[in-house]
Amino acid sequence: MASLEKIGACLFKTSMIMSTENIRIAIQKSGRLSEDSLKLFKECGIKFEAHGSKLRSVSSNFPIEFLFLRDDDIPGYVEDGVADLGVIGLNVLMEQKRKVDIVKELGFSKCRLSLAIPRNEVYTDLTYFNGKSIATSYPNLTDAFLKANGVKAETHEISGSVEIAPSIGLAEGICDIVSTGGTLLSNGLKEVAEVFQSQAVLISNKQLNKTKKELLDKIIFRIDAVQKGQNAKYVVLNAKEENIAQIIALLPGMRSPSVVPLAEKGWFSLHSVISENDFWEIIESLRLAGAEGILVLPIEKMIL
Ligand code: ATP
Ligand code: ZN
Repeated sequence: MASLEKIGACLFKTSMIMSTENIRIAIQKSGRLSEDSLKLFKECGIKFEAHGSKLRSVSSNFPIEFLFLRDDDIPGYVEDGVADLGVIGLNVLMEQKRKVDIVKELGFSKCRLSLAIPRNEVYTDLTYFNGKSIATSYPNLTDAFLKANGVKAETHEISGSVEIAPSIGLAEGICDIVSTGGTLLSNGLKEVAEVFQSQAVLISNKQLNKTKKELLDKIIFRIDAVQKGQNAKYVVLNAKEENIAQIIALLPGMRSPSVVPLAEKGWFSLHSVISENDFWEIIESLRLAGAEGILVLPIEKMIL
């Protein structure tokens, strides 16, 4: 921890010399948050270099500086103001109980913290864990969940390879991050209760100055546009004049769909935007209503 503080103080001093106008964001150097974090800021039109050995990078077209760090260090740096913003898993943030603001859910690195026990054990409900020992890297979240459910179990904090704890006799159950459940299965465990749902979030220091608040607003605006684009599809289709009213009723659109006459008399092209979630259901209804030559295109950004 002492060395972390030294690095933090050192980074902080460097920033004072470099510039007071850049906003500073900490993202994971390498791991399950990294790729999507980099992709998000690139899609926001922010240009910067990020390769293996780099620990910091200043954008060439936006007043932002990236720090590439271990994810566990990010909430602390943001709380202390060494970084202004950070991208972190909600699981790590809530476990550390740092005083930062959660600015936005980012929708990637989705996973859950779950309780698991050996596969051959008979599980009824949470009372199973009464008097049992649970190994976890998330003692605070685990204890809070057990307490809220009136279960008296003993949690043992271990920092890695939690899933082998039951097989080596270290604990009777575990509380760990699960996404597909494959790791649990290969370690002879089964998931029995969900403790916490997580995804990546954008966090901010609580005392940003006016300039940095304005920069954060610009970043949020861009992230919103990227996220709206990701959830929407642009649909182009052809239809006969007599089917247009019925097809328009099916298309929610941003306002109302554009209707463009085709060269062939009595035929029109309709353009609209639909939500990714409604995608298949709407496409099917459109076909039934007489839509032909349906094109579904990705939307890069959407500003409403
Ligand atoms: P670091 O070396 O930076 O400390 P780490 O090993 O602690 O990395 P990762 O395994 O890269 O962490 O996970 C980072 C975050 O990604 C987790 O805290 C969690 O929010 C999320 N995550 C973990 N496992 C998965 C998964 N299987 N699928 C999706 N997201 C996950
Ligand atoms: Zn970590």
